[in-house]
Amino acid sequence: MATVAFIGVGNMGGGMAVNLAKAGHRVLAYDLLPANLEKVVEQGCEQAESVASAVAQADAVVTMLPAGKHVRQVYETEVFLSARPGTLMMDCSTIDVATARDVVEAATAKGFVMVDAPVSGGVAAAAGGTLTFMVGGTDEAFKAAEPYLTCMGKAVIHAGDAGAGQAAKICNNMLLGISMIGTCEAFNLAQKLGLDPQRFFDISSKASGQCWSMTSYCPVPGPVPTAPSNRNYEGGFAAALMLKDLRLAMEAAQKVGAPTPLGAEAESLYAIFSGMGGAGKDFSAIIKMLAGEWKG
Ligand code: NAD
Repeated sequence: MATVAFIGVGNMGGGMAVNLAKAGHRVLAYDLLPANLEKVVEQGCEQAESVASAVAQADAVVTMLPAGKHVRQVYETEVFLSARPGTLMMDCSTIDVATARDVVEAATAKGFVMVDAPVSGGVAAAAGGTLTFMVGGTDEAFKAAEPYLTCMGKAVIHAGDAGAGQAAKICNNMLLGISMIGTCEAFNLAQKLGLDPQRFFDISSKASGQCWSMTSYCPVPGPVPTAPSNRNYEGGFAAALMLKDLRLAMEAAQKVGAPTPLGAEAESLYAIFSGMGGAGKDFSAIIKMLAGEWKG
């Protein structure tokens, strides 16, 4: 079993670090927030005093940080300076494609092995070890990362070269944001036309309008009992995180000149919804704003 430095043990990283420890690895955890560190130390991780002290002893490094600027700073000013030659590095944060490519290229140039490995699945999947990892990097780097990622997820997929994991993640989530808004519009219109939501679900979920937003996260309560709409839109995937991913997708689309008019519309609607106090609610709650029923 290996020694793993785990940097960033927040909502997602906390569960992931604990799953690596449960799998038998020695996990040296570091976070700026002592309260987050305490939680993982109670569950089998060891507390590191700094990024440098964790990384200097590690065979592998995992980072789970808020955004690209944190990832760049942690790698360039800390990880690269302390890691042993050949150390495996896995950044699981959701960040922009350009930063992901830059950091992987810098790691490779310094003799390290690195992948970008963002995840699909929320806090419950992180705690339960059922995340899906989308991995960007060389075949060699993917093979080295796979055994570690398998301890934290149910699926580990090689998306392509450096940055391809982030590209897959933002394209998927742009589609998800658009399909959720489409689903919300359809349920609102159905209701205004006098259709019972359950009847509409029974028909559309078996017809050509069927999609994940409808059959797993149905925005009206009732048809899918496990959907956040049954819990006042608590838990699930926060609208603020959907907005973050849509912004990353729009930034990437602009850079490569890909037309994404519906992605841009989805970004703008989630920005309005977040501004109206919806940021912390599941992203399916946008149905309330579209129906003119949002109370903030
Ligand atoms: P979080 O804010 O709960 O955790 C981030 C942690 O990083 C915090 O504990 C913070 O203190 C720590 N941190 C920040 N800068 C640091 C530094 N320089 N050194 C050490 N620690 C530092 O966020 P989260 O919800 O765990 O999300 C982490 C990443 O996962 C984000 O990129 C997010 O977009 C992505 N993600 C989140 C979800 C979700 O449902 N929460 C789902 C998929 C992907």
